[in-house]
Amino acid sequence: MKKDYYEVLGIEKNATPAEIKKAYRKMAIKYHPDKNPGDKQAEEKFKEAAAAYEVLSDENKKARYDQYGHAAFEGGQGGFGGGGMNMDDIFSQFGDIFGSAFGGGFGGFGGQSRGRARVKGSNLRIRVKLTLEEIASGVEKKVKVRRKVLADGVTFKTCTTCNGSGQVMRVTNTILGRMQTASTCPSCQGAGEILDKSSKNADAQGLEFKEETVSIKIPAGVTEGVQLKVNGKGNAAPGNNSIDGDLIVVIEEQVHDSLKREGTNLHFDLYINFSEAVLGANKNIDTVTGKVKIKIEPGTQSGKILRLRGKGLPSIDHYGNGDLLVHVNVWTPQSLNKEQKKFFEEMQNDENFKPNPSKFDKSFFEKVKDMFS
Ligand SMILES: [Zn+2]
Repeated sequence: MKKDYYEVLGIEKNATPAEIKKAYRKMAIKYHPDKNPGDKQAEEKFKEAAAAYEVLSDENKKARYDQYGHAAFEGGQGGFGGGGMNMDDIFSQFGDIFGSAFGGGFGGFGGQSRGRARVKGSNLRIRVKLTLEEIASGVEKKVKVRRKVLADGVTFKTCTTCNGSGQVMRVTNTILGRMQTASTCPSCQGAGEILDKSSKNADAQGLEFKEETVSIKIPAGVTEGVQLKVNGKGNAAPGNNSIDGDLIVVIEEQVHDSLKREGTNLHFDLYINFSEAVLGANKNIDTVTGKVKIKIEPGTQSGKILRLRGKGLPSIDHYGNGDLLVHVNVWTPQSLNKEQKKFFEEMQNDENFKPNPSKFDKSFFEKVKDMFS
């Protein structure tokens, strides 16, 4: 009788993807074979947790499991379920669970007690600069990446030192008796394979640098410093069974000429002249999807903030768009001709020119308060 996957991970049925991941991570570390050498029970728990995570981390499989239970995966495809996963499958999940920081290293340490884990090449990092317009819509970027690949004509053969296991056993005498310890094979560095035939372009590992154009789909709403992972576009590792490293894409945000970003909201400073403030006007505003016309009402005060709903940026979690906040600044003329000067002198004491803040629909501070409520 298979255990309930939610019970295996010790989580509620309504656990979020992040909670599922966290729970699995905890179990994977606790019951990792390297921490529990020879412990069959730990190994069983380790496999159970991996099988549970395999299903619960996949939206489709999870939905099927929620509806039909284990029966959803019986017969036909199989491939998972308690004990159905082999250790290589389990370790290959780890790139996602523990982040790129661990990379192949984590898989490698799994290999020490459980047959050979596949050797993974190193990750590459690139920075990609995006405009606010590109961030607003999402964008596909083509970048040139110089990565190590297996050189043409190079072949590998099973390492004879370790017979392909990637490790060698050493017997040492201790006060407790003879002990056998496993260590990484010095001939193949744990890969289980060594170079058979090299070629003139290949380095000592059988690899060569190659420039490749990689297409990266960047979702809308990313922020400065966000890291995206493109699987398998990092450096290759030597061997027929090795896995290529990943390409880590770090997002950089380009400063916009007129729009300032604050989360999903955007700010635009609009300058209008004295007459436009008095008489009203139509003005063009920059947005991330082009210019839009807005109406300035007659008698608009400096400091007024107009909110264009939904004209901000999308959130990366698909919670809808932010707003564009237009800050109205009235430009006070700094030089006047004689006639203009005379006009303003006459108006100086005019009742209509007298500041009367109580006549505002709302004070500036109330409006600011409104904005953040
Ligand atoms: Zn070897």
